[in-house]
Amino acid sequence: MHVSTPSTDITLVDTMIVGATIITMNSDRHVIRDGSIAIQGESIVAVGKRSDLDEAYEAKTIVDGRRFVVTPGFTDAHIHITGDPLTRGVRRGAPGMDFSETLMQWVIPLFKAHTPQDEYVSAQVAGLRMLHGGVTSFIEAGTVQHLDEVVHGLQNVGIRSRVGAWVEGRSFNPSPSDSAAIDKAIETLEKEINCYGKSPDARIVAWPLLIGHSVNPDEVWLAAKRLADDNDVGISAHMSPYASDPAWFLENTGKRPIEHLADLGVLGENVSLTHVVYLNQSEVDILAETGTNVIFCPYAALIGAFGVASNGLFPEMARAGINIMLGTDGVPVDIMNSARLMSGIFKDARIDEALFPATETLEMITVNGAKGMGLGQRIGAIEAGRKADIVCHDTDRPQWFPEFDLIEQLLETASGDGVHSVWVDGERVIENYRSTKIDEEALRAESRETGKAVVDRAGLTVHHPWPVL
Ligand SMILES: [Zn+2]
Repeated sequence: MHVSTPSTDITLVDTMIVGATIITMNSDRHVIRDGSIAIQGESIVAVGKRSDLDEAYEAKTIVDGRRFVVTPGFTDAHIHITGDPLTRGVRRGAPGMDFSETLMQWVIPLFKAHTPQDEYVSAQVAGLRMLHGGVTSFIEAGTVQHLDEVVHGLQNVGIRSRVGAWVEGRSFNPSPSDSAAIDKAIETLEKEINCYGKSPDARIVAWPLLIGHSVNPDEVWLAAKRLADDNDVGISAHMSPYASDPAWFLENTGKRPIEHLADLGVLGENVSLTHVVYLNQSEVDILAETGTNVIFCPYAALIGAFGVASNGLFPEMARAGINIMLGTDGVPVDIMNSARLMSGIFKDARIDEALFPATETLEMITVNGAKGMGLGQRIGAIEAGRKADIVCHDTDRPQWFPEFDLIEQLLETASGDGVHSVWVDGERVIENYRSTKIDEEALRAESRETGKAVVDRAGLTVHHPWPVL
């Protein structure tokens, strides 16, 4: 972490954040008080004590960092950026409906009612909300219908993204595989990989994103894995939030889901499975052996009544060395709150206060997220050579004073509403709580109109539990 230019020459860089407290997340987990960061182009070129950097660098733009705790940008490893953001509060179905009825009668109709323009607006709302909460990179959950418009929207707000189109091959309602649907799914995967940047340095890259569960036949999984391996990208898919996925796989393949995917040869370090609540120990062992990543969405699990406290094997996964990332699943909760919930759920479930301390949950949304995105050496930490994905947390906000153990405070008391400034690829996309790239008022007005139109088009009536006068 020391400055690598000992000569008396002064190097001119684009930006310096000066005098901040920096939680670097480097391999030694250094926290630097009165520290500075030098940014040139897309990258961090130096980080260290202010006194050292002052002697070696000058900057075109100097940011006074004295009121900031600075962290790497966070990763939300599972979020639906369409469907959810414009239809908040509509989602709960009707009284007495179970998960599958809610899914078929409410959730999917709302997603499908989105036009290309709706998804363009929705992607901007989701991207903006993430940036305001300190999230600089995310993996989409696999439910985008209009990928071109979504990519355009994400480019507008400036967030790092891994996105892909909705592919199935077999419908949610119990149904046999359909060869035309399988061909269409594989064609969609191939097309999107060829359309968008494959370089890990590109801010937006298309990945094969599978719905998972029981709706992707083996042929689709195999095509996705071949494309991911050949193009050096990742795969993400939902699996086993409820016992229904293992039940389906046992009935139709004779094996549990993870066993079946392992036999197909589609697991590995470029694969991330989301939820994975209903696993047995042998499935955990397979994930560890294959280096497969997992993504857990704590708030979605709690409000979805997954039964994660009773059934989740996340402490066992951590012990086995599995890379655990966190996601929000699109529900309106920021990633720092997700980390806090992750820390709490298993402490209570196992009556063990030592489980998942703040240090580990901060790793889940930084270095672990970077690793699962295939960007383990590029993002997730503040050190020379990494991309400048940086978040300034404002210690003038009440949740921050007085300051003691910063890691504990970051995860236990602070929240995304203290995010003052954000850089992605060295570009300051949020400054003083405002986007530098889009007109937030105009987007707000457009999203209100668009959201109402989507709900009307889906033919749904919003239920209010209490009389609305
Ligand atoms: Zn999801």
